[in-house]
Amino acid sequence: MGFLTNRKALVVGVASNRSIAWGVAKAMHEQGAEIALTYQTEKLKARVEQCSQACGGGPVMPLDVTDDAQIEAVFKELESTWGHLDILVHAVGFAPREELEGSFVDNTTRGGYAMAHDISAYSFLALARGARPLMQGRNASLLTLTYLGGERALPNYNVMGPAKASLEASVRYMANDLGPEGIRVNAVSAGPIRTLAASGIGDFRKMLDYNAASAPMRRNVDIDEVGNASAFLCSELASGITGEVVHVDGGFHAVALSSSMLDSQ
Ligand code: NAD
Repeated sequence: MGFLTNRKALVVGVASNRSIAWGVAKAMHEQGAEIALTYQTEKLKARVEQCSQACGGGPVMPLDVTDDAQIEAVFKELESTWGHLDILVHAVGFAPREELEGSFVDNTTRGGYAMAHDISAYSFLALARGARPLMQGRNASLLTLTYLGGERALPNYNVMGPAKASLEASVRYMANDLGPEGIRVNAVSAGPIRTLAASGIGDFRKMLDYNAASAPMRRNVDIDEVGNASAFLCSELASGITGEVVHVDGGFHAVALSSSMLDSQ
């Protein structure tokens, strides 16, 4: 028996079998959870349905997180099919591609800033509000995906940095609000992984190489490692953890200067 047996999980953010959300859905399913998935656009529907079949064939629903009516419809559907919800995973992020390169000061527009924060940060709160009534009395768990660019400045990540900082602050405020109801709220800060969203970030290939060379583990992480940590955080094994940002990045966040950088001088 897995440590998520009989748990019901909604995983938002599968776009392909490279998506971090897919790594999370697979890991949770392996631990016994039933999985519901959503797709952002009709173009992604068939691919997400295939992923759903590969992890038990649970509910699959349309969801653009900027649309409150769609958010409401997702939780109505889950209420009628499952009756309750134990886990919500938010693995969604977006900023206009032209704002993810060059100067943060020059290239960030008012509209791009608002959009990045709406889709990448506010949506976690909006989904939590929908999930909350279905999570009462279930020791439920909310989880989001973030990146080190929310804590430190780095090239090209630009407007996504403030959006992730906002998301991480939201994790703490949500944990404080929902803790009395037994609902825990955490984030996984993943190291760089080649996905559709990541391909929009300028010089991403170089970032991957730099991370692999300088992380204590001297390699990058994959979606299965992020998935396993996420499954743990949403399980009773992590019953004392809330308001936390857990780094799954081979230790990259922990070092200021890697010995590999000195060796190469
Ligand atoms: P991905 O492209 O596979 O997933 C991004 C998802 O966001 C897609 O499923 C897309 O459909 C969804 N999305 C975007 N706008 C949406 C909207 N309006 N409504 C509904 N869904 C929307 O890429 P990924 O790298 O797996 O990204 C998942 C999360 O992980 C993001 O929050 C990302 O910032 C975070 N993350 C990624 C990395 C990385 O290097 N890939 C590292 C750390 C954190």
